[in-house]
Amino acid sequence: MTYTIDQLRALIRDIPDFPKPGIIFKDITPLLGRGPAFHAVVDHVAEAYNGSVDIVLGIESRGFIFGAAVAYALNAGLAVVRKPGKLPAATFAAQYALEYGSDALEIHRDAFGHPTRVLIVDDLLATGGTANAACNLVEQLGGQIVACAFVIELKALGGRGRLRPHPVSALMEF
Ligand code: AMP
Repeated sequence: MTYTIDQLRALIRDIPDFPKPGIIFKDITPLLGRGPAFHAVVDHVAEAYNGSVDIVLGIESRGFIFGAAVAYALNAGLAVVRKPGKLPAATFAAQYALEYGSDALEIHRDAFGHPTRVLIVDDLLATGGTANAACNLVEQLGGQIVACAFVIELKALGGRGRLRPHPVSALMEF
């Protein structure tokens, strides 16, 4: 079966008050569990960047799921940004604020050479703090940010503005 964006959108499940009261968690697992739907999402995210990306940067941890698949679709390499203490070699770090809490992200200093065209991928754009930290890490490595690509954008939180001037794409808006 082929899926329209609205049909894909219907596979995102709202979990109220997770992980904290007041947060509506957008659960992607119903979408991931349907092969043709997962396939369609990856194709949609990747198609705008065909031929223009050397490295996809996946953000821990749900960004790894889509980032790896998008990298495969684009025949690009995959680099990862992870929570502190997870990467084994020398790293750069960037602090960020979450919709629920705060944290830091790290990248291997040799994650990619330059010049490198980098597509940052995550499942969801909320306030933009996480993706902004990933942009900061790409810049520390001297990479060129092609865009930040998300499956889901929570429009009301204004994350897109925070990522300016970088292009932002999102498959579904809520
Ligand atoms: P932010 O830094 O505020 O843009 O938050 C984005 C990051 O937090 C992404 O890695 C998301 O996976 C996660 N996240 C934030 N809010 C939600 C939400 N309502 N549902 C699911 N994941 C979320």
